[in-house]
Amino acid sequence: MLLADERRELCRIGRRMVETGVVLGAAGNISVRRGDLVAISPAGMRLEQMTPEDPPVIDLTGAVVEGTREPSSETPMHLAIYEETRAPAIVHTHSTHGAVIAATMTELPPIHYYTLLLGGVVRVAEYATYGTPELAVNVRKAMAGGMRAALMANHGGVAIGADLEDAFENALILEWLCGVYVRARSIGEPRALTDEQLRRAAERGLRPKPLPQE
Ligand code: 13P
Ligand code: ZN
Repeated sequence: MLLADERRELCRIGRRMVETGVVLGAAGNISVRRGDLVAISPAGMRLEQMTPEDPPVIDLTGAVVEGTREPSSETPMHLAIYEETRAPAIVHTHSTHGAVIAATMTELPPIHYYTLLLGGVVRVAEYATYGTPELAVNVRKAMAGGMRAALMANHGGVAIGADLEDAFENALILEWLCGVYVRARSIGEPRALTDEQLRRAAERGLRPKPLPQE
């Protein structure tokens, strides 16, 4: 079986995504890249039910190399992110607070310095229908410049990382930051950190985990 360890790890992180509530039902998808191959969750599959035989292995054009199931409908988005970044892993969620910000804002205002862990101020990719090449283009743009996460307008969030565990961790940080912002808005007008304040926090060494060859 190609990418056997990676497919097992997809199942483990897929279960964690469901346990932590960042996806519900068959929402969300997840992939891991090794060289010119990508193992990706199947279309329409509940991530907690995935077994290592389920995720198809595709090449960088999206053609299936191994596996019987159809690759995730968001395969164009995953491949676009692999083209844009050196990330070996991608996690796409429909987490609640991420979806709230993605339905209302064009970026996640930096009210907490932990946004530095995601590479800076998180952008909201312009809306496009799920699973389309247009959405892939918009998300790719939002991820440019070393970002580890983006929100997708009226949809959800996406995160990358140095491995699947790190991509999942970044998805959780994104959801935490969105939750803090939503709650802050409920009691007042949150203060965004200035560029200078963010720069000083960054000087203390807070930055995303390096991606391979970074
Ligand atoms: P898939 O089941 O095809 O991966 O789609 C789920 C999803 O979240 C679409 O954006
Ligand atoms: Zn989705």
